[in-house]
Amino acid sequence: MTGTVIKNTGSNYLVRTDNGTNMSCKIKGNFRLKGIRTTNPVAVGDRVTITGDKDETNYITAIEPRRNYIIRKATNLSKQGHILAANIDQVCLVVTLFHPVTSTTFIDRFLATAEAYRVPAILVINKIDLIEDDAEAMEYLDAISYLYESIGYPVVRLSAKTGEGINVLRSQLNGKTTLFSGNSGVGKSTLINDLIPGLELATSEISDTHDTGMHTTTFSEMFEIPGMDDKSYIIDTPGVKGFGTLEFDKHEVSHFFPEIFKIGADCRYGNCTHTHEPGCAVREALENHLISESRHSSYLSILDDSEEDKYRKNSRDYGNKWGIK
Ligand code: GDP
Ligand code: ZN
Repeated sequence: MTGTVIKNTGSNYLVRTDNGTNMSCKIKGNFRLKGIRTTNPVAVGDRVTITGDKDETNYITAIEPRRNYIIRKATNLSKQGHILAANIDQVCLVVTLFHPVTSTTFIDRFLATAEAYRVPAILVINKIDLIEDDAEAMEYLDAISYLYESIGYPVVRLSAKTGEGINVLRSQLNGKTTLFSGNSGVGKSTLINDLIPGLELATSEISDTHDTGMHTTTFSEMFEIPGMDDKSYIIDTPGVKGFGTLEFDKHEVSHFFPEIFKIGADCRYGNCTHTHEPGCAVREALENHLISESRHSSYLSILDDSEEDKYRKNSRDYGNKWGIK
């Protein structure tokens, strides 16, 4: 029998079989990835073969090769990885511009990581009901939406509270398996509950710190979204802020900023880091406001992490109050 792993807690795996029943399984055999130590050899989203029937212990005996997978450190200090999800079509980052504030640096790091995994990303900006009467905040919302859409990321503005924008999101999710991610307090659980009535994920009135995902191993779970034209699934990753840290190679960072990468083809030097080199097309584009200050500064911050040199010595004045253009 074949099926998809929809939940993994410790050594137990819940598998949704292709004929629609859920079966609790253990694993038999060695599924470890070569070269990587993981806490979970089988992950949510894996396509698996299982044996046994309802009355005895069921075993996962084989995994189909993964199209992709997202892995993070099991805990902050661990050398082991934890596979958040496998075989996903896209990731959805839920953010709020205010209440709580999400920095563009956080968004850009998330998007760059998604690029590194070669997984398409969409951006959901939630809680727009809170800013509808605030012209300045709406202006910021417009600027942020324009910025990310112009790079090629779909942006959905919505209110999980009033339902505004939900149908636009549903059309983005149709026929796909989407991994949801977001800082705590942005309304990710409220939004998933909207999409999947009856699920009743716990939402929190006050933001607490238990779910920072730093010291605990979190367990992903896959849900089908009802009422869609084509089969559509959400993978929720409770308590996971971003994807964790990827170790970017200094010369690769620009590959993960599509607009910087594109313009970087015109730099004088092939290995240009877009920080100080003469004939840098990226810095010229920055001068001409064709690349946003905030994106470039996020790029520099990732570069800083992968390089002991301080590239920020020529840090710039932001041209407007939001730091984006
Ligand atoms: P999570 O930590 O991202 O899962 O966030 P929750 O879903 O628990 O929501 C955090 C708080 O934000 C709760 O008090 C929600 O009621 C509230 N909330 C979620 N979505 C919205 C929204 O669209 N508008 C407003 N005003 N509040 C929201
Ligand atoms: Zn350059």
